[in-house]
Formats: sequence, structure tokens, C-alpha cells
Amino acid sequence: MDNKHALTDYAADTAVMNTYGRAEIAFVRGDGCWLESETHERYLDCASGIAVNTLGHSHPRLIAALQDQAGKLWHTSNLYRIPGQEAVAKKLASLSGLDQVFFCNSGAEATEAAVKIARRAAYEKGMADRTTILCATGAFHGRTLGMLAATDRPAFRTGFGPMPAGFAHVPFGNMNALRAAMGPHVAAVMIESVQGEGGAKQVPNDYLADARAAADEFGALLIADEVQAGIGRTGHLFSFEQSGIKPDIVALAKGLAGGFPVGAVIASQAVGAAMTPGTHGSTFGGNPLAMAAAAVVLDVLTEDGFMQDVRARAAYLDAALTDLQSVFPSAISEIRGRGFLRGICLAEGVDLMALVAALRDDHLLCVPAAENTLRLLPPLIISRDEIDILIAALHRQLGVA
Ligand SMILES: *Cc1c(COP(=O)(O)O)cnc(C)c1O
Repeated sequence: MDNKHALTDYAADTAVMNTYGRAEIAFVRGDGCWLESETHERYLDCASGIAVNTLGHSHPRLIAALQDQAGKLWHTSNLYRIPGQEAVAKKLASLSGLDQVFFCNSGAEATEAAVKIARRAAYEKGMADRTTILCATGAFHGRTLGMLAATDRPAFRTGFGPMPAGFAHVPFGNMNALRAAMGPHVAAVMIESVQGEGGAKQVPNDYLADARAAADEFGALLIADEVQAGIGRTGHLFSFEQSGIKPDIVALAKGLAGGFPVGAVIASQAVGAAMTPGTHGSTFGGNPLAMAAAAVVLDVLTEDGFMQDVRARAAYLDAALTDLQSVFPSAISEIRGRGFLRGICLAEGVDLMALVAALRDDHLLCVPAAENTLRLLPPLIISRDEIDILIAALHRQLGVA
């Protein structure tokens, strides 16, 4: 396939380290679901900076909040009270049904802090041997050394060993396997209810409720990694909501501040109480700029009718994807995910990277994921007309794939 925007090995002509396969496009501005390149071409953004631009680009309320805060105060450190943190923490606690929030700057920091909090909670209860974190195969929890140990993808780990101890993996979605792995050594079970990087893969219907019951039975905690699936992406503020359960610890990042770097860990009172001054920290975590942006995202998502409207538009996308599969039954093996975290699982032999590049050449941005899955992560504000544009591009490019 002749893609004018093929991925390039750009190390030769920039000083930026060669850790990403990047497309030869640079964007100069964004507006809603659209990005404009240096050459003034417009692209429909169904990647959202990998599930980050919750409210699209240049949302007027985000711009106003950041500009206002930028003119007042950027950073003070966590040596002093930060009113913006207290406001966002209060909102996250009440929305999640949990109690306390720790702020950091990224997803890996949030999941890593979640693990630290779970272990410390066991330690404070006199169970210092309860350290193992059970994770699922196919999971992605981040790129720090700790979170690489929680992520079982060999390609991410090669050459970075030794991996920290204290993590084990159970087959994705298999409750019997999870129960069999439980025991007095397990501090927590860490779950993405929809594996994003893993291919927009949803756990089976009762899995979260059963995992909650298993954790309770064996005295372990339940960590929900909502870094990608949280903040409205699955049609609910938190993806665990639909299962009716409450985790002990929730990790958030990507979409929380709509593009400003932030991470957060929410914990129950019982668990969070294990964390006392000096046990954990972050220089930048929860700074006033990040908090100003996060406050707007949470305000917009909790406005009357906003999430209902997201679900209605997600249902419109769902119907179109079902139709797409019926038109291309030999190219599409499965439609996955929910809300605006969707995956088109391609049949063996359909070249995912070539399709992503062809769609990009057709001015549609989406994201590859594991298991030969094309991932769609549009901003939550995508309109029906824009969904039609997305679907038309998929029809065009699957037609020649
Ligand atoms: C992206 C992601 C992370 C890591 O987030 P970073 O901000 O890249 O560190 C962790 N968990 C999940 C589920 C993710 O999708």
C-alpha cells in the first residue's frame, strides 16, 4: 500500500528519541473533533490523543479556565493547601462513592500509586506478606518498571528486566482462574473493565461483580484501572458503574483534564487511611493548572443530560458499526467495547497498520490496538454527522483493504 503518510524512522533528522512510530503529520490547531495540519488539511480525530481529549480540542470552557488560572498561579508544590485539588477531590470522591484522592501526573503514576496504596493498606493491618497484585493477561497498566511488571506484553518488557516481583497474571475474563489464584498473599486484584490497549476488550458481564466477591472473600482489595475507560469513555463516568460494584481503589488519568497532564487515585476511607504524611508524593501532582482543567471536564460531564446524550450518540455509532460488520464480514471478525471506546477486530490477514495509515490518508485518525484491533476513541462530543463521516471513511478503506 502506498501511503503518503507512512510511519517514518525520524531519528535521523530530529533529536527526539526514537521511541514512537510517528506519522509524518504535525498538527497546528484543533477545534472540536477536528485537527488541522501544517498544510491546512483537516482530520477527524477519532483518537483523542489516545482517549485524552474528552471534550475535543479548544473547548471554550477549558481555554477560559486554563487562561484564568495561568494568570493567577501555576504551581506551589504540595507543601501547601491547593483549593483546586480539594474541589476536584471532593467531586471525584462523591461521584465514585469513595473517599480520598491522591493526585499525580499520568496513568502509570496513578496505577503505580494504586498498587502502593493497596500494599500499604495490607501492611498497616499487620499483613506485610500480602503483596501480590493479580492482573489479567493482555492488560496495560503503564510503562514504569512496576507497571511493566503488571503488564504482561513481552514486547514492552524485553531488555528492561529484571521485573519487580509481586505481580501475577490470570487469563483475561476467566473467573475460575482468578479464584484459583487468590490466597493470603494477594493484596489486590487490578482490572481494566475494558482493556483499551489490549484491543477494546470487555470483561464478561458478571466478571467485575464476581471479582469483587472473590476479593472480599479472600481479604484482598479491588483496583479498577480506569485510566482509559474512565471519565465517560464507556458511556458512564466510571466504567465499573454498570456492574453495580464499588472498587476499593480507582486509577484515573488520560481523559480527566481533557488534555492537560494529570492522574488521580481514588480510595475508600479504610484503604486511604494507610497513607500518612511522607508515605507518597509528587512534585507536580495536582497543580493548580491541572486542577482547573479537571474541574471543567468533571463539571461538563456531570451536567444534566450530558452522559445520556453521550450514550445516545454511542448507540448511534454502535448501530453503524454493526452494519459495517455485516457489509465486511470477512474483514471484520468482531466489534468490541462500548460507549466511545470501540474496537473493530480485523480478520487475520487484514493489515491493521496499513488500514490505520490508509484511514489517516483519508483524513480520519484512529488508533491501533492489540489483537489486530482498530480502536476508535472519539471525543465524547462527537456529533452524529461526524460519526457518519467516520463510518463513511471506514466503508471506503475497508472496501480496498
Ligand atoms: C494509558 C494507560 C495507562 C498508562 O498511562 P500513561 O499516562 O501513559 O502513563 C495505564 N493504564 C491504562 C488502562 C491505560 O490505558
